[in-house]
Amino acid sequence: MNETDYTRLRQNMVEFQIKARGILAENVLEAFLKVRRHVFIPDKYRHRSYEDNPLPIGFEQTISQPYIVAYMTELLKPDKNLRVLEIGTGSGYQTAILSCLCKEVYSIEMIESLGTRTKITLQEEGFNNIILKTGDGYNGWKEFAPYDIIIVTCAPAKIPPLLLKQLAENGKMIIPAGESHRQKLYLIEKKNGKIQQTETIGVRFVPMIRNTGRNGNVE
Ligand code: SAH
Repeated sequence: MNETDYTRLRQNMVEFQIKARGILAENVLEAFLKVRRHVFIPDKYRHRSYEDNPLPIGFEQTISQPYIVAYMTELLKPDKNLRVLEIGTGSGYQTAILSCLCKEVYSIEMIESLGTRTKITLQEEGFNNIILKTGDGYNGWKEFAPYDIIIVTCAPAKIPPLLLKQLAENGKMIIPAGESHRQKLYLIEKKNGKIQQTETIGVRFVPMIRNTGRNGNVE
């Protein structure tokens, strides 16, 4: 497949998987047309990059289904003035989408070799407002807090308290949480210092791994 084929597949993805399911924000659709999803996917699965499902990216991890990335992105109401914290860089695809839509993206990946591979891809694609690090993102990234947007793409059993703390006033966070087969995606907003939590759709993300190797409800 050549670049023209991929562009056509990407246009179809936006039309039939994203727009058709009700994601209509212009800036979000533009970002999905622009970001070359196939460069974030290992050779073996590259030809399937624009399918309506998640795909393996190595290290027993997956890149999320395009619609789920779009759904989460739209709920966050991204904007060029906003700073983002992402937990679970993975392939870097969601990172790239947010990089197009927001001011800066800080992103943490637990698996070092995956983080290194993704850093190269993002640099090669010319994204220059992304700051990456490897480590356990359970406790967020205090140094650059607070964040207007926090997005978590691995699922802890419960919402990590320090992430709530690092959310700016009027900020929005999207996070899957729950037992491995019964996760819900939560939209969290901070207004007048108070946390409002809305349950949205049911999802299946990879679990958030802790440094201890256990699940997110330790501590
Ligand atoms: N948005 C990514 C999703 C990747 S899957 C994409 O679409 O490609 C989730 C990622 O979270 C995996 O790469 C996994 O290694 C990472 N992860 C799991 N636990 C983590 C933790 N405690 N801190 C940071 N990253 C974590």
